[in-house]
Amino acid sequence: MRRTMDFEFMAFRDPLTGLYNRRFFYQHIEVELNRVMRYPSPISLALIDIDKFKEVNDTYGHHVGDLVLQGIGVFLQERLRKTDMVARLGGEEFVLLMPNTTEAEATHLLTSLLSGIRQKPIARYEGQEHFITFSAGITEWYPGLSVLDWTRHADYAMYKAKRNGRNRVAKSTANKGDYGQRASLSSSHHHEYKRVLIADDSKAIRVILMDKFKHWPLRFIEAEDGEEAYRILAGEPVDLCILDSIMPRLDGIGVLQRLQQEGTRSPNTRIIMLSGQEREEESRKGLELEADVYMVKPFSMLEMEMKVSELLGLA
Ligand code: GH3
Ligand code: MG
Ligand code: MG
Repeated sequence: MRRTMDFEFMAFRDPLTGLYNRRFFYQHIEVELNRVMRYPSPISLALIDIDKFKEVNDTYGHHVGDLVLQGIGVFLQERLRKTDMVARLGGEEFVLLMPNTTEAEATHLLTSLLSGIRQKPIARYEGQEHFITFSAGITEWYPGLSVLDWTRHADYAMYKAKRNGRNRVAKSTANKGDYGQRASLSSSHHHEYKRVLIADDSKAIRVILMDKFKHWPLRFIEAEDGEEAYRILAGEPVDLCILDSIMPRLDGIGVLQRLQQEGTRSPNTRIIMLSGQEREEESRKGLELEADVYMVKPFSMLEMEMKVSELLGLA
């Protein structure tokens, strides 16, 4: 567990601020978007860029610059709601993902963050207090908007805030009509993607797998426990499920048993069972319950790739 945690920290966190890094953010945003596509609700994104940050470095030194970055990390994390996520995209740029939040609500939140940050020294060094402001750009997602265009809109809005004098929050004025065509294009391509459910309580495993397959024509859904995995398998089309055998609430075998009992297993769903160790009894049971493949953790990535491409007919 300790090693998993250390690994997670190194792979998904920015060492200076302790915030999530860019890599984690791009994984996470896909997951949130998948959720929103299945259970529609508003979701907004804000890009935050510190104003005149270079001057802090030039005037007081890089060390004070670092303290300021750490200060803003702490500040953002303290002020966030439970479902929001904040990451450092790089340099003095941060991103905030706000599920269940409209553009108007996000604007309100960011405006209040900005007024909070203006009033409070963000760092103290050798008796001197340092204050900063930021510029932020906000965009609410709408159907058909890709992650790339979503962040572009937010970026554009952020530069608008800069141009208008910094120290302010701007919304994107993207015209949804511009994306109508693109939206229908992407939905007609939709069927080319295979839907893959990763049911594993370890975030590290889920992200490693999604990262590994990020260039494959796959759409990922995540489940953190067996109940959630069952709900998705019984209720939505899934082409492949990578199913951990040991999970909270309902284990992998339990998921397969319930699918069989309730007759809710789709014939189109392939299943790869993952187990923490070689256990013949479990492996036999898993295969009896019609898992297609049984793999022991730590599995080889190469073997995983081969199995996935074989089961999905992608070879
Ligand atoms: P603007 O208001 O237009 O955003 O101006 P700015 O000075 O904030 O923007 P600019 O992009 O010109 O400068 C960003 C600076 O951030 C330059 C770079 O040296 C500094 N920076 C990036 N990463 C770090 C870091 O990890 N630590 C420190 N101390 N500085 C960093
Ligand atoms: Mg910048
Ligand atoms: Mg800046």
